[in-house]
Amino acid sequence: MNAEIIAVGSELLLGQIANTNGQFLSQELAAVGINVYRHTVVGDNKPRMKSVLEEACERVDVVFISGGLGPTEDDLTKEVVADLTGKRLMYHEPTLDNMKQFFKQRKRVMSENNKKQAHYTEGSDVFYNRAGLACGMADKYKGTLFILLPGPPRELKHMYENEAKPYLLKKMSGESLVLSRVLRFFNIGESRLEEELIDLIKAQTNPTIAPLASDGEVTIRLTAKANTRSVADDLLDNIESQIKLRVGKYIYGRENETLPVQVVKRFGDQKITLAAAESLTGGWFAKHIVDVSGASAMFEGSSTVYSQSVKNKVLGISNDLMNTYGTVSKECAESMAEKVRLQYQTDIGISFTGAAGPGALEGKLPGTVWIGIAGPHGVTSHELNLAGSREQIRRLAVYYGCWFLLK
Ligand code: ATP
Ligand code: MG
Repeated sequence: MNAEIIAVGSELLLGQIANTNGQFLSQELAAVGINVYRHTVVGDNKPRMKSVLEEACERVDVVFISGGLGPTEDDLTKEVVADLTGKRLMYHEPTLDNMKQFFKQRKRVMSENNKKQAHYTEGSDVFYNRAGLACGMADKYKGTLFILLPGPPRELKHMYENEAKPYLLKKMSGESLVLSRVLRFFNIGESRLEEELIDLIKAQTNPTIAPLASDGEVTIRLTAKANTRSVADDLLDNIESQIKLRVGKYIYGRENETLPVQVVKRFGDQKITLAAAESLTGGWFAKHIVDVSGASAMFEGSSTVYSQSVKNKVLGISNDLMNTYGTVSKECAESMAEKVRLQYQTDIGISFTGAAGPGALEGKLPGTVWIGIAGPHGVTSHELNLAGSREQIRRLAVYYGCWFLLK
């Protein structure tokens, strides 16, 4: 099955927002074995939308359209599809009911133009919106399936996962099944990983092995095609164990389990509590942990102790120690981790200190980072020499902190 993705919205053309819906859908479609051949962005303009849709359905089996399902004048997607297919626009009753309820709860009046969010073309399949108001839909035109999804990314994701994806998979059920699996690696670069696996990657057509680097970590997507689920699973298990034999020590998770997610999960499961003392990372470690639901079960808090005087006053790091060894040092990192652990009364304390750049700090090159980890059996520390911008160095430090906590 081949697809194209059309993102509708003049704000995309003006560069006010990035087309993250296109990115999301492309990743998702690749994962179920649908080939995406083209992305198009078109403004909120009827004739142009119409011609873009007409062209796309000459080329592919499925066209995804994001945006333009809302209540305002410039939300035109359903009208355009109705125009093309020559069908009437109808109102989807459950969606109308949901909207009425929504306005009633907020003590607001539902205006007439709001109703168009419940539109669908006669005879099409409707996707109920559980994350917003406007319903989505699937309709056929000249043998091509149009799938209409709302523009707000949260709504689009929700509708794709819960409505459009199962709908598509059902349509594809005559075809062979595609299963994919993501392995997550850290502390190994993309090129090194590829080098270790190059013969496997080259020899392999089913499953395929696709590495992808982003934000200091690397993922590998394994995609298998087979007639049954258990055959596809076997193919994936087999290649996964070959990969693990070679580079298993760099694997820390699967699918969407990022490093912070793993830390929260592991510490939560084992009932271990954590606190952080952050200089270099300025609160970013705490942010990454607190972003994960379930953090409250294991995370007590973090102190942002940026200057030497605050390291001394708030955490009680001795000025002598900092004057002797510097703040970017093993000694300072270890003391920070120990002090925060005692202050917050947690099982583990972690600390981050370093030179984020662009200039050197205390004669240390940018990218010099010390991470301390204190626990009931004492304190350890790790020195890192990271490359990249100030932001990259700080982000990587957070990820390494998580990595060391998981070791
Ligand atoms: P609404 O009911 O909010 O009007 P809609 O389905 O009509 O939803 P749009 O009006 O096209 O969707 O977009 C609503 C908002 O969703 C945009 O302002 C933008 O913030 C976001 N959005 C739209 N398209 C995209 C896209 N392709 N990628 C990322 N965000 C998008
Ligand atoms: Mg809109």
